[in-house]
Amino acid sequence: MCGIVGYVGNKNAQDFLVSGLKRLEYRGYDSAGIVTLSDEGTATLIRAKGNISNLEEKLAQNKRNDKIGIGHTRWATHGEPSEINAHPHQAGKIFLVHNGIIENYKELKKTLNEHEFKSETDTEVLAALINSFYKDGQHPLTNAVVQALKLVKGTYGIAVVSELDPTEIVVARSGSPLIVGVGHDETLIASDASALVGHTKQAIYLNDGEVARLTKNSIEIKTLSAEPVSAKVEEIETNLAAIQKGGYDHFLLKEIMDQPESLTETLRGRIHAEDGTVRLGGPGLSETELRKIKHLIIVGCGTAYHAGLLAGYYIEKFTPEITIETVIASEYRYRQAYIPENSVALIVSQSGETADTLACLREIKKQGVKTIGIVNAIGSTIAREVDGGTYVHVGPEISVASTKAFTSQVVAMVMFGLTIAQAKGVRNSILRPYVSEIAKLPSEIAKVLESNRDLVQEIASQYKDFEHAIYLGRDTAYPTAMEGSLKLKEISYIDANAYAFGELKHGPLALIDDRFFEIAFLPDGELYEKAVSNVQEVLARGGKIVAITNVDKFDLDVENVVKIATELKIFAPILMNLISQLFAYYITVAKGLNVDQPRNLAKSVTVE
Ligand code: GLU
Repeated sequence: MCGIVGYVGNKNAQDFLVSGLKRLEYRGYDSAGIVTLSDEGTATLIRAKGNISNLEEKLAQNKRNDKIGIGHTRWATHGEPSEINAHPHQAGKIFLVHNGIIENYKELKKTLNEHEFKSETDTEVLAALINSFYKDGQHPLTNAVVQALKLVKGTYGIAVVSELDPTEIVVARSGSPLIVGVGHDETLIASDASALVGHTKQAIYLNDGEVARLTKNSIEIKTLSAEPVSAKVEEIETNLAAIQKGGYDHFLLKEIMDQPESLTETLRGRIHAEDGTVRLGGPGLSETELRKIKHLIIVGCGTAYHAGLLAGYYIEKFTPEITIETVIASEYRYRQAYIPENSVALIVSQSGETADTLACLREIKKQGVKTIGIVNAIGSTIAREVDGGTYVHVGPEISVASTKAFTSQVVAMVMFGLTIAQAKGVRNSILRPYVSEIAKLPSEIAKVLESNRDLVQEIASQYKDFEHAIYLGRDTAYPTAMEGSLKLKEISYIDANAYAFGELKHGPLALIDDRFFEIAFLPDGELYEKAVSNVQEVLARGGKIVAITNVDKFDLDVENVVKIATELKIFAPILMNLISQLFAYYITVAKGLNVDQPRNLAKSVTVE
């Protein structure tokens, strides 16, 4: 989860490390630190609790012109967020930053009596372990790192420097991302390409089980079993504009408002409204393979899971004889689930690094099932390990709460479903309405966002002091309600839960009282009247309802209504979800909370 950066070259290392950490702050922000080394090897270690601005304040008093260093922004797993637990951790002459979890840290710690532990972290154990093999420079640092890592169970992306050789950084990864940026007379490292943007376009994505020794003009990569690796240098696609706020107050609002463009990127070259077809190159399945598919397993966590649920509701409407199971990755990886023949798995992750989703991918592959990635981050681990895939191409999503990725994940999966249906010979007249609505979605999204923004802001301000909310929907509006409630709870800390309307009488109706408000999703369609009856039941018990609907004649006496004017029918729930996103955003702003960096969370969940 955390962010790692590193620099060795001729420029000021502190400057790169701090600017890089700022770009990665969304990956963890409970504390941060950097260490740099002078040409003589004198270390300057600066750490601070809280966000990068606290680190910067300390740095102002400790300016150095060092040319090598490593930095870290932490998302605590072992030990509270504090300066002492912040990385880099020191053992003897070495300093270590680490992303991930050392699972056997307790056993290892018992063997490291010579080191006086200062922090509660698992990371310091790894630092001490490396140092026990390094023996204050008696052995090469790379060898010491390799020996230590052979004893480690868990996940890691690490970077290590030593005061005894201020020209080298040793990095390694297993389960946590690490990218090496190749510059002119400089080598950079980052756990996410966004930190490298503006510095170099050339990058090497390390693979699990690889360790690299980096100097300003050399990169030597080998496996833990000492096999040399010839690195593939790839182009970084992200640009500077994509990782800036672009005039908005928060990344979240920028990313919400970006959706007409980001979805256009998802659709580019793939959707052909003129003949009502979809053409996806990435999955790499032949017509025969597509025709054979009988089961889809959709794997995700959080928002990606909700995207999978919603896409599943759609796909089963137009694809005959197919069963769809959308699963939560952290559960599925430990289930003894039987995967029937002719299954394909969709692996959904914005970052492409989500630890549980990655673990599922590996388990599913072992069973010989074809895996298709629905991923945003190009070159990420999941993107590289799946058999085929459809990038959603929404550009960097920096706010912790996922918005534009959700919309595009849903549509990308529906397009994959349409591809299956086409191969199975489903009549074009059945599929065409889906294709033509998808083609119109970007402009409809633009309209809905522009015309409802002020209204949603005004409504949100009325509910900012509530502690509980219930989100309600049926059919495709049910996963929409789930996603809406997640958005609200993760950034506004209002306790929000979603229920299928039909489930109300089976329990949740008992909750309705003054402490709650309810958000009801009421798309036009076959189940509209049934949902309206459920709304009546809530109203009869004093419910305070905000209705979101595309039915113009909606006239129930609810507290607030957001009427969406759209010609779309099938995908109206995707438009309604935009209202959820805006609602969560404005309520959080009204409460004065940190929109982009909600407490306790981080983007790109690379630990289990
Ligand atoms: N497990 C380490 C810690 O708690 C690393 C956490 C991270 O990835 O930020 O310090």
